[in-house]
This record gives sequence, structure tokens and C-alpha cells, in this order.
Amino acid sequence: MNKPVSIATGYSACPHDCPSTCALNVEIIDGTRIGRLRGAPDNDYTAGAICAKVARYAERIHHPDRLTSALRRKGARGSGEWQTLPVEAALDEIARAFDKAEARHGAETVWPYYYAGTMGLVQRDGINRLRHAKCYSGQFDTICTNMAWTGFVAGTGKLAGPDPREIDSSDLVIIWGTNAAATQVNVMTHAVRARKKRGARIVAIDVYRNATMAQADLALCLRPGTDGALACAVMHVLFRDNHADWDFLETFTDRPRDLETHLKDRTPQWAAAITGLGVEEIETFAQWIGTTPRSFFRLGYGFTRSRNGAFNMHAAASIPCVTGAWKHEGGGAFHNNGAIFKIDQTMVAGLDRRDPSVRMLDQSRIGAVLCGESADLKGGPPVTAMLIQNTNPVCVAPDQRVVKAGFARDDLFIAVHEQFMTETAALADIVLPATMFLEHDDIYKGGGHQYLVLGPKLVDPPAGCLTNHQTVGTDYPMKNAMSATGYRNSEIGENDRVGVVSVNGPLSNHQVICGLAKRLGAEHPGFDMTEREHIDWMLRNSGWGTLAELEANRWIDCQPPFDEAHYRNGFSWPDGKFRFSPDWQALRRQTGPLTGRSGRGGICLNYRTTGPSRKKKPRHFRSGW
Ligand code: SF4
Repeated sequence: MNKPVSIATGYSACPHDCPSTCALNVEIIDGTRIGRLRGAPDNDYTAGAICAKVARYAERIHHPDRLTSALRRKGARGSGEWQTLPVEAALDEIARAFDKAEARHGAETVWPYYYAGTMGLVQRDGINRLRHAKCYSGQFDTICTNMAWTGFVAGTGKLAGPDPREIDSSDLVIIWGTNAAATQVNVMTHAVRARKKRGARIVAIDVYRNATMAQADLALCLRPGTDGALACAVMHVLFRDNHADWDFLETFTDRPRDLETHLKDRTPQWAAAITGLGVEEIETFAQWIGTTPRSFFRLGYGFTRSRNGAFNMHAAASIPCVTGAWKHEGGGAFHNNGAIFKIDQTMVAGLDRRDPSVRMLDQSRIGAVLCGESADLKGGPPVTAMLIQNTNPVCVAPDQRVVKAGFARDDLFIAVHEQFMTETAALADIVLPATMFLEHDDIYKGGGHQYLVLGPKLVDPPAGCLTNHQTVGTDYPMKNAMSATGYRNSEIGENDRVGVVSVNGPLSNHQVICGLAKRLGAEHPGFDMTEREHIDWMLRNSGWGTLAELEANRWIDCQPPFDEAHYRNGFSWPDGKFRFSPDWQALRRQTGPLTGRSGRGGICLNYRTTGPSRKKKPRHFRSGW
């Protein structure tokens, strides 16, 4: 008789670079395999709904093409000829290559490069600990957030807005620059709830007819990069037709009279010619906003896809200031909640070892950097060695032809830590197999909501291929090999040797970083901590309790009080006023770490503490439109 299948439920969080960061219920079959994934029904943001691709994650995690062994390039770069080797030997080779490169060109010749393949704070940001401890080149990022974040913060002073669950209480939900029906389904869940409950209207704005538009009451399909013109025309109508809330404007904004004057000739006719929209469409949109106090602007990452994206985002976020929609539950503008969590990443990202004199190389300019453009190298040495985690730059970085030329260099050592043989991995010297999110421990913060969610290890990674030590030419003591990575799934005897028993198999990012740190002589207490210890440290030092408490509760609601989220006591600038006229040059100079904590090189999230001085005033009124 067949043994009955046992199905348990594990709890996790989606690791993808998607604002929804869904809380997940995961079927675990016989303790070893993943079944169906579902949205956690008891999480009031996820509300039981997730997108189709993650619901079928079992197909990815158990895919036969998954990398399970470390690989060394055998033939010419990109030839597809590989030999397997133990992961420990692969780490040794990477460390030797890094040391050799550093001896020749200095530490900045090594460029650890990563992005958001996982959004877990341990597995994503630990690479910065190695970077800081070794003074390797920094990374100015990100490819896909800076325009939108800068534009939003330019107005509010802080990357935060109303509780996104308030969409349920809105009478007009404006979904602008995000195809929520496909990529962050929870926005649609809450918007449709508002429609059913209160008769709310839904407006979708994008540059192509997508699934969200199909569900909207008004779908505005405009030319790419022209959102700011639409926003200006909407505000023109709001002033023209006496929908402006002058009490709110005078109290909470910097130069409302100048804005009204500035917009005098930004008519719907003017905007129609720029955006490709009809005058009637713009008038209807503006009238709906002007007559609906509870208008919720859900502003997405579409704003990052054009050179003038920061201006466009700023203009869109300005609209609810003209009507005073911020005052109401279900009103205001929301883009991302990055500033509310205040996670202390000193330990995980090694921020206490950060040397500000080390150059920051632009993540988006990887092609030019690798091709030796001197301006992009910031006067420093060429990049001759890389470790790449969580991203596939050969496929996704701008200016792909130049990126490919850079990766083709013979004098560049490339190590890629990946789950599948991507376009970037195919050009590597060493490929390390990577775990997936259900195979390691991590913690996630919701960009599109207010929860910190735990994502614990639920299953073991797949076993690696048997490795043949003749291939490597080295007889590795397995005990040493395994202990250095903290690998947990093998029983290892003193005399076990690689090549006799498999020690291969995917490693977590944390294991790779700690394994390399030991070989490179990099010192930091974070290299001696487990993933779980890092999570506990972050929670305790950020005032969010302990790992044990989070394990019991699965997530933490970090939502600030209503008045704070709606800026009822003033926006996050020293004078409390939303900036219709930001000092764009000062914003441009903000290149420090995010809220001084994460170690990433983007804009600052909260200008109240780190922004320009109280005395500094913009010299003249200026906007992108
Ligand atoms: S909607 Fe976004 S966060 Fe939710 S499961 Fe899909 S990709 Fe993950």
C-alpha cells in the first residue's frame, strides 16, 4: 500500500522585487517538497491573494534545470563548457582571484555587484558587509528606484505615505504607473473592495493598455514620460474650477500662489498635445479628483522608466496637496513605505566598516564601467574582479551591447552566484549554485505596505551533483569544507573526502559571503553569525522585538499613526511644508546611504534628519513642466 502523503503548512514571504511582499502559506509535502503557494488569508494586506507565478513556485524550486553544482569555465568565455568542482574549491578560486586582482590594482578593482533578486535583508545586503570590510568598490544604486523615490521625497521630504489598506476607504483610487492587476495584485484587491463597498471609481494611467486598465472606470493611456504634463493640467483645472483647498495649501505647502500662476497656461489643451490624451479625458479626470475628497493616488515604478521620471512623480504627488486629499482617510499619495521601518542594518551590511572615500560605481553604468570609461571609473583602477549575486546584468542593465562587451573581457574575473544558468552566469569564470527563498532564513519589509514579514527556511535545497575530485585535482577534507560554509544537511565524518560523498549543492548568499570573508581575511562580527542571528540582531536593534516573537506572530505591523502617515502635523521638511518648488540640485547631491542604515548608495529617504539646512531656500520656482 502506498504511504499517505503528508502536507504541512509553512509560512513565508515573497522575496521578489515587488511592492506587495505577500505573506505566504506554503504547502510542504512530506517535509521535502513544495506544493501550492497561497496568499496568507489572515494578513490584512495580502488578504489571501497572490499572483499566478508565485502560486506555482514549486515549478521553479524543483525545476530540473536548476544549478546544483559549482562550475568552473573550461573553454572560452561563453562557450558553455564547464567542469564541476566542490563549492569549497570554487570559493577558494574566487578568493585567490580577488586577492590577485587586489595585489595588482588595489582593493577598488574588485566590484561586488548585486540587486533585488531577493529582497531579503540578510541575503540581499550581506554582500555589502564583505565590500565594506575589504574596501572593495561601492555600488551607487538603483537601476529602477531613484527617479521615483527622488520625485516623491522632493515633495513630502520622506518616502512614506498613508496606510495602503486605506484604499478600502477611498472613493477614487488612482493607479498610476503600475500594472497592479499583474504585478501587485493586492492593490487591486483593495481597490475592488472599495468599489464594491462604497462605489469607488478606479482610474488607471499607463503607457499601454494593460490588465489594470481593463478593470478601470477611466483608463488614461498617455505617451511615455508625459505624466507631469497630465498632472499639471489636472492641477490647472483644480485651481480654475475652485477645487483647491486653500486652507490646506497655505498651511502645508511652500508656494501655492506661485504654483497657481505657474499652471495658468498648462491647460487640458496644452497637455493633450503633449500626452496624446483627449481634452475630455483630462477634464473628466480632473473633475473626479476635484469632487472626491477621498482620492488615493497609488503611484508606481513606471515613473522610473523615463529620464524626467522624478519630475513626473513629483507633479503627480502634488495633486492631492492642491485638493487637501491628504487630510482624509482613504486620501493622499502613496509610493513606497521605505522610511517607516527604520531597520538597523549596521551588522548585516557592515556599515560600521564603511569608508566613504571608497569610490561608488553606478550600477546602471556597468557596461561603461567594465569597458573602462574613465569618468565611470571615477579616476580609480579598472574593475578586474566581480562577484555577482541576485541579478542578471547582461540581460537587464541598460546599454546591453556595451554591457556584453564589458563581460567579454579576458582580463576580468567573474564569479556569479545563481539559481539557473542565466545570460550573466553563462559568461562567468566560476558559477556558484544558489538557494531559493524557501531554503534559507530571511526577513522582508513591504515596500507597498507596512509589514515586516519573516521568511524562514522551510525545506532543504536540492542535493548537488556528485563531484569528482580528479576533476578538481585536489583532495579536499570535507569536514573543513562544510564547516566553513555552515552547511547543515550533511553528516560529515572526519575522513570523508570531497569526491567520495557529495558536498555540493546550492549555498545561500550568506554562506557564500561568510565563506569568502574567511578566505579573504575580512573581519567583522557579522561573518560569524548565522542568518537567524542576523535577523534577531536587526529586530532587537531596531526596536521591533526578537526573532522568537516574530516567529510566533509571522509579521509585524509597522504602520505609523494616522496623523504621522498623513502628515497632519506637517510634511517631513524642517518647515513642515510640502515642496511644490523643491531644490532639485540639493536632491541631486543626496547620494548617501538610505536613512544612513542600509549601506546602499541611493538617495536618502528622510530629509528631516539628513536633508538640506533649514536656512536653505530654493532660489526660483521651477518644475519639470
Ligand atoms: S504579487 Fe508580488 S509580492 Fe505577491 S506573490 Fe506576486 S510577485 Fe510576490
